[in-house]
Amino acid sequence: MVDMSSNFDSVNEARKGTYWQPFTSNRLLRANPEPRMLTKAEGIYYTSINGTRLLDTLSGLWCTPLGHAHPRIAEAVKTQVETLDFAPSFQMTHSGAISLAERIAEMAPEGMNHVFFANSGSESVDTALKVALGFHRIKGEGNRFRMIGRERGYHGVGFGGMSVGGIVSNRKMFAPCMMPGVDHLRHPYEPEYAAFSHGQPTWGAERAEDLQRLVALHDASTIAAVIVEPVQGSTGVLVPPIGYLERLREICTQNGILLIFDEVITGFGRMGAPFAAQRFGVKPDIITFAKAVTNGVVPMGGVIVTDEIYNTFMTGPESAIEFCHGYTYSGHPLAAAVGHVVLDIMESEDIFARVRELEPVLEEEVHSLKDLSCVSDIRNIGLTAAVDIKPIEGKAGARWSAIFEEGLRQGLLLRCTGDTVSFGPPFVASEQELRGMIGSFRKVLETVCE
Ligand code: PLP
Repeated sequence: MVDMSSNFDSVNEARKGTYWQPFTSNRLLRANPEPRMLTKAEGIYYTSINGTRLLDTLSGLWCTPLGHAHPRIAEAVKTQVETLDFAPSFQMTHSGAISLAERIAEMAPEGMNHVFFANSGSESVDTALKVALGFHRIKGEGNRFRMIGRERGYHGVGFGGMSVGGIVSNRKMFAPCMMPGVDHLRHPYEPEYAAFSHGQPTWGAERAEDLQRLVALHDASTIAAVIVEPVQGSTGVLVPPIGYLERLREICTQNGILLIFDEVITGFGRMGAPFAAQRFGVKPDIITFAKAVTNGVVPMGGVIVTDEIYNTFMTGPESAIEFCHGYTYSGHPLAAAVGHVVLDIMESEDIFARVRELEPVLEEEVHSLKDLSCVSDIRNIGLTAAVDIKPIEGKAGARWSAIFEEGLRQGLLLRCTGDTVSFGPPFVASEQELRGMIGSFRKVLETVCE
């Protein structure tokens, strides 16, 4: 086993850059006098290599809502490895995957009774896009190939997810290789009209009409699906305006277009409901999930589809493979075992109700930062929040590194993207810990910005 606490050689190794880190300014990180390494995680805290305890303000990367080192999860991992450590999912299966699919379907909106497993959010999104294309093709509508994403959307890094995603830095290097036939809706957030909204903004539902314009431009018969995150997470908690998702649903239904909710962040409780679909009362045709389903302990993702979609695939000769798609690790026994324990814990601890209890606490606390002159906007919904910092010297994102470093000094592991700091605390945090988290963040901003 690697000695995580005293393996100081790894600090020097890290400086060499042999390990090329994802979504990281690798050279900046290597030059940093303080090594940015974590050695331990327990409950809602990490321990860094210099022994500092850090509150996990984003539940890992939105994926560890039940906190770290949960004994029931640790036990399940051990037992599963000793019992069935791997099972091929092509033409063979195991009971853990079947029963987990059933439990997830039970949690999903009515009529969404079929689950296809993947291993990450990116894989789940690409799976969803392929399901949409396949569905139309089987129905004899193969001309429906267009996908509609949204500006500032994040749907992972596969070619499909990148193409429907709307973050320029993730796209520009690969521009010539995007999926063909992709358009983007504008995101429904403008600080000018919606800044400092509590929960869902009242402004912005009219942005759903962008979809109507694309239908008019391309004709509905060429459009396969619209994919949106119900709450845009990675680009800083952009909350859907009241009526916005409802209107997207309406336009999709009227035009035979599938609506995909990418619930990789919002799925499994972050909105105080199993899925954001239930929180907002809008039923999509496909839901993607990942992250919290296994509390981040073992990678897992997947898509949930309606009976109509599944039944459409289940036609043709019985010996045929209905969907030529899947991963070596789809429905992995270890991930399935962990998924079961996670759902057990969520049920027995009534975790969605807990999120609903904590939501007003986070809301009150985070909006109390409004008096800081460097803060330009604050948004929140469910157990998510984001604080925008005014750019300095006309340069966007100039202070993220200083904020991140000061966060470490104040005992916070922060998620800073550009001028936005996002919060997605663990559901098991206490009210006091949430208040303490925002209190420490106030000190960070007072030190760096004021
Ligand atoms: N979709 C959404 C909404 C996400 O937030 C993410 C990751 O944050 C992804 C997809 C990609 O997930 P992964 O990093 O597991 O591939």
